[in-house]
Amino acid sequence: MRNVLLVKYGELAIRGKNRYLVENRLIKTIIKRLNNYPGYRVYKEQGRILVVNEEGEFDYDTVIPIVSNILGIVGLCPGTEFEDRSIESLRKHALMHFKEHFPNGGVTFKVITRRSDKKYPMTGNEISADVGGYILHNIDDLKVDVHDPEIKLMIELRNNVYVYSKVIKGPGGLPYGSGGKATVLLSGGIDSPVSAFLVAKRGVEIEAVYFDSPPYTSERAKQKVMDLAERISAFTGSIKLHIVPFTQTQLCIYEHTPPEKMTVFLKRAMLKAAEKIAVKNKSYALVTGDSIGQVASQTMEAIYAIDSAVAMPVLRPLCAMDKQDIVDIATDIGTFDISVRPYEDCCTVFVAKHPETKPKKSIIESMESKIEELDRLIEEAVENSEIIEF
Ligand code: ATP
Ligand code: MG
Repeated sequence: MRNVLLVKYGELAIRGKNRYLVENRLIKTIIKRLNNYPGYRVYKEQGRILVVNEEGEFDYDTVIPIVSNILGIVGLCPGTEFEDRSIESLRKHALMHFKEHFPNGGVTFKVITRRSDKKYPMTGNEISADVGGYILHNIDDLKVDVHDPEIKLMIELRNNVYVYSKVIKGPGGLPYGSGGKATVLLSGGIDSPVSAFLVAKRGVEIEAVYFDSPPYTSERAKQKVMDLAERISAFTGSIKLHIVPFTQTQLCIYEHTPPEKMTVFLKRAMLKAAEKIAVKNKSYALVTGDSIGQVASQTMEAIYAIDSAVAMPVLRPLCAMDKQDIVDIATDIGTFDISVRPYEDCCTVFVAKHPETKPKKSIIESMESKIEELDRLIEEAVENSEIIEF
């Protein structure tokens, strides 16, 4: 008998042949995270991933926080593994598990048995009833509740037998890197880090781009973005952040465009620069933190006028979300506190009091084509960008 950690990763089941690649990616990530902890091994076992310690006691308090934020993991279950599948052994191990985790009773429970071993002489329900009765006999102050129990004691008969009762929730989604690549426009605000997280959670590998306009934007604003990137890397393992010096481009737009149209020109320039980086790093899409209607540049008309700047698809995972829902996710993933630090990312010099909410694409495109040095400045900004890896 030994202590193990069962890793649940439900959604992969629907991905057919891809499943093995995706499972292997998840296993690789777990192995990488546990690299510095001797003795830990990771196995695949019939629709589960299993973490064991082959050299000593399983230290759940250390291991669970390290793997619990890995994208693709639905739940983590600390449990025991043993070989003897006789009903006496199931009773004994289930009771031991129960006593270890709920020594004082005082709970309602139910036993649930999963049996991939169809030759077993008892059905799953029979096993559950037998083991449930045995536990009830041996621990005081317990009640069975089959409808809404506080504790679900799980018995799984696979190649070995597993008993567990706790499920620690993981972030879910798909394993990072199993679904192509995208480049995220990461500002210091609340929204874009959430966008980055949501796309990464669908298995997409991400690189981030930040447009820095010193001295109009401060060193501290840049630090904020770096801290956000580092926070996101807790989920993705690592992340590259491209810092693009955008002052010259921004000044050029400032000189050549009426204030109410500036935001649209600026966003187009950002997308163009990001697309150049995205092509180089083999991304298939750009990602922003836009949410429909939140600000002037996020109306349908503005999105239409902005997106024609690039050929690459621009994903907006937050487009239909309310601010509070975005804030809730930001709080959950630990980016909110960083995002709300003061030192805004955009200098007031560049923000019009009344930006146009219904820009016309044809007018914008025609005006833009007359700014001769714009393309060159964007090209130079990309060439001069700095790359930091977290
Ligand atoms: P956020 O909270 O993400 O900053 P926002 O609500 O402030 O978004 P905008 O400032 O209009 O909205 O930015 C919309 C999107 O454009 C951002 O979510 C981000 O993807 C991108 N963006 C804006 N400014 C920058 C910047 N300086 N660097 C990189 N991306 C940016
Ligand atoms: Mg912003």
